[in-house]
Amino acid sequence: MSEAVSNKFLEREREVTKHLKERSKQFYWTGHPFVDAGLTAVLLISNKKKPEELVEEDIKKAIEFASKLYAKKEWAGKYLHGMLFPNSGILMANPSMSKKRSPESIAKNLFDLYGSIPEITNEKSLERRCVICGRREPAHDKYNLFMSVFPLLGTGGVLNFFHSANSKGADICAYCLFLVQFMPIASYLIGRVLVIHAYPYEKMLELCEEAVRDVKLKELASNARGFKRPENFLFRKIAEITQKVEGGYRYWENVSVTIYYFICNNQNQVIDIIPIPNPVLRFIAFAESVDPKGWRNILNIGWHISREKKEKLSFDELEKGYTNEIYRKLLNYESILPFFYNKRERKVNSSWRLLKFYCVEVLGLNKDALEFIKNVGDKIVETIEKLPDNQLKRTVRELENANKLWEFESFFIRVEKIRQNLKLPNVLLTFDEFARLLTAYGEDVNVSWKTVKDLLLFRIYEKLHDRLSGVEEEEEEFEYWRGEEE
Ligand SMILES: [Zn+2]
Repeated sequence: MSEAVSNKFLEREREVTKHLKERSKQFYWTGHPFVDAGLTAVLLISNKKKPEELVEEDIKKAIEFASKLYAKKEWAGKYLHGMLFPNSGILMANPSMSKKRSPESIAKNLFDLYGSIPEITNEKSLERRCVICGRREPAHDKYNLFMSVFPLLGTGGVLNFFHSANSKGADICAYCLFLVQFMPIASYLIGRVLVIHAYPYEKMLELCEEAVRDVKLKELASNARGFKRPENFLFRKIAEITQKVEGGYRYWENVSVTIYYFICNNQNQVIDIIPIPNPVLRFIAFAESVDPKGWRNILNIGWHISREKKEKLSFDELEKGYTNEIYRKLLNYESILPFFYNKRERKVNSSWRLLKFYCVEVLGLNKDALEFIKNVGDKIVETIEKLPDNQLKRTVRELENANKLWEFESFFIRVEKIRQNLKLPNVLLTFDEFARLLTAYGEDVNVSWKTVKDLLLFRIYEKLHDRLSGVEEEEEEFEYWRGEEE
């Protein structure tokens, strides 16, 4: 290596080191929900938006803010010790410390922890690193990294989640350990603890803002307005945020949200991790802003409560208190298409626009395919609306009762015959269209011929509801033409 090149190399090396040193004073997101929630709390306490904007003064303020709360009986016992950090020495949540516990003593522990954050480890170093941020050495020399200081870890005797096969606990650095101490302030209390983790992080700030606001106002952990189900609360927040932001439902494009619903105490360590599929997130936002009435009609079918009880409660009360089957299905990638219409009353629950968004964005149905099915639906309507009431209803019933593919096929043949009898121009379907309709959608759970059936019924009810509901219930007749008999 020539001297010039080698000097340049050394210079670059110095630059990198300097840069790393500067960066080591900065705060950063880690991607870990609990640590990010702590950082979110620190940012919201300081009214800042980005970790790199935080200065020493903000950290001091956050420590003092948290210590004052954590010394209170309401926080230390039931919340910190009972749900998050059992027997924590850092936050003095251990019941045996109740006499010594004071804002000053907790603040001292937090300042000590903050002061012990090491420099960022050199990139090339082979030292052990924090399993969360990967940037600094673990804090084992000063702390035992068990669940008393970081929720859901082991206890030394029990390794539990995120273990590092280390008897001194998980490989976590003082930076991550410090931030997680603030997590309680950005969490919601819904029976268990709810942490909402989102990316991009500006969305996380938006979703956790209410928790910190509640803490600032009442000096108590946020109870999420009394919601009993975490997903109901999240979806309500999504709807509210959509109303106030520019761009409406598009605000949620490419956003990832996961909820962590857990409890960690000496008796129980459990967690539900619920990733919210992005199409579902956008669908909820779209539904609430474009067809709120239709969306409520659909939700109202899904509450886990008896009809008598349901009738006495308002939508808000139902939303706060009860599980909803529609939400459950959406989160489990199950189709909610049949809920868009009411088969018993032969009416639709929502607009075609909402149905279309659901089919295209959530079910993944091709836009052209949807348009094609809609046109077929319109042709069916054009045909059967010319029938007298009793025959109209009978024909629709045949489609409603089609549970086998051949029954579904025979419905189209019936409608085609009606067209011929009525001498309507043009056939209902060309051979290619017929084949496409029946075979292109296969038996996929979400997009099968049953999807097509649901969409056709939706279209028929939408157009012919008045006539279909007005017809007197007649005797069941079993004179339907069956495909293979003719
Ligand atoms: Zn770390």
